Amino acid sequence: MIERQIETDVLVIGGGTAGFGAAVSSGRLGLKTVLLEASPKVGGVMAFCPGMPWGAAYPCDKTIGGLMEELARRLYDMNPPMAEKRPCALENFGPEIQYDHEVATATMFEMLELAGVETRVNTVAIKPVMDGARIASVDAFDRHGVFRIIPKIVIDCSGDADISAKAGVPFSLGDGQGNMMGVTLSFTMVGADWEKVFAENDPYFRRFAAKGIAEGRLHPDLHQLYLMKGFHKDTVFCNSVVIRGVDGTDSISINRATQEGRRRCLQLAQFLRSDIPGFENARMTYLGPTVGVRETRKLEGMHRLTGDELSNGTKFPDGIVACDNPIDDVMRASDTMTHDAMVGQGDYYTLPFRSLVPKTIENLMFAGRIISADPTAFASVRGMPQCMAMGQACGTAASLALKDDIPVQRVDTKVLIDVLLSQGIKGIGNTAL
Ligand SMILES: Cc1cc2nc3c(=O)[nH]c(=O)nc-3n(C[C@H](O)[C@H](O)[C@H](O)COP(=O)(O)OP(=O)(O)OC[C@H]3O[C@@H](n4cnc5c(N)ncnc54)[C@H](O)[C@@H]3O)c2cc1C
Repeated sequence: MIERQIETDVLVIGGGTAGFGAAVSSGRLGLKTVLLEASPKVGGVMAFCPGMPWGAAYPCDKTIGGLMEELARRLYDMNPPMAEKRPCALENFGPEIQYDHEVATATMFEMLELAGVETRVNTVAIKPVMDGARIASVDAFDRHGVFRIIPKIVIDCSGDADISAKAGVPFSLGDGQGNMMGVTLSFTMVGADWEKVFAENDPYFRRFAAKGIAEGRLHPDLHQLYLMKGFHKDTVFCNSVVIRGVDGTDSISINRATQEGRRRCLQLAQFLRSDIPGFENARMTYLGPTVGVRETRKLEGMHRLTGDELSNGTKFPDGIVACDNPIDDVMRASDTMTHDAMVGQGDYYTLPFRSLVPKTIENLMFAGRIISADPTAFASVRGMPQCMAMGQACGTAASLALKDDIPVQRVDTKVLIDVLLSQGIKGIGNTAL
């Protein structure tokens, strides 16, 4: 039974990096904005894999600008600084941002608060109610029961797109054959000696991994132990334990994967202490509360981004964020990981706004890892900075659609790009990075 009803201009579903970007930009533009987040924290993958660096914020070593730059700048400017731009240890990735997880999360909550967003954590959107080509309302539940939200515009930033799918937006799963990238349970080792740990200069620690697997002390999929310096000087972030064949839209599958991940993480932490110099006095902390899901549904938008478009360095007239990430495919159909370059050295591409807009539903947009993209393009565009900028574009487009009382498909993208440029996003539309 529906007990309560809330009216809002914009409903943002999901408080990951995309939802954060959408809600802050919509709130700042004076729209009444409700953000629903199923978990107790904003961040999405950031919250589930605490310490995961922000990836492609600096294509060609230049900032993408916008909310990502503002968030990072707030942390850089703290005393002591709570974020740092560093080179990535992996081939073909540009610089990344390491940050203090707790301070970053608190800062995101504060930016939402200052933007006037009504953030509702522990609240799950469950069902759209359609009225022809519009979403008339969305049912959600919290600890008090089921309630109804009546939004003028919905921005789906849920990573899994349950609501868009139920609203009838066509989608594909993973690579189209049902193979989705592996999910990861991460942890951090505190009390590590960086000098010793990183003495060999192999980000994957392959020599040690091979020994652990040969001796039956590590799972065979751990042949590349991706270990990186955490933000704080004695910490090492372990983005190593990948579980394959998991359906991120199924809670039982997620629970099983998380429990298997816990076993492999505990085993790995023990192995690090016993076998890798520099970890002798370290201990495990920040074991993720659940696995981070890389890939589930990709929605069908007005434009489906392709790997060919990105590898050609396409700068779309309605491009809303720049990117130069490689094709970062993590164990989709096999136990391999790739990060082949997507664009030539010094080049970048942009992501078109039309990949965030469904073909028919007039008051729905989507942002983040549910972008309309083929599997190759998706493997490159999915970094958190790009997700945040996609959200920022949708939040801004919402204000344009509402101002002119038009379907989101008819938003004037030239005007949208101009507004995003005025918000400090770099290298979009016809402007160079
Ligand atoms: C293991 C792993 C490693 C990665 N490494 C990097 C990296 O190093 N650098 C980088 O930049 N990117 C990295 N990525 C990619 C990046 O983290 C994701 O693509 C990005 O975070 C996706 O953001 P999002 O907001 O679209 O979705 P998510 O982060 O998945 O957030 C979705 C949010 O929606 C909420 N939600 C879902 N359904 C509902 C609902 N019905 N109602 C309410 N709330 C809901 C979820 O609880 C979640 O908080 C990695 C991803 C993973 C999983």
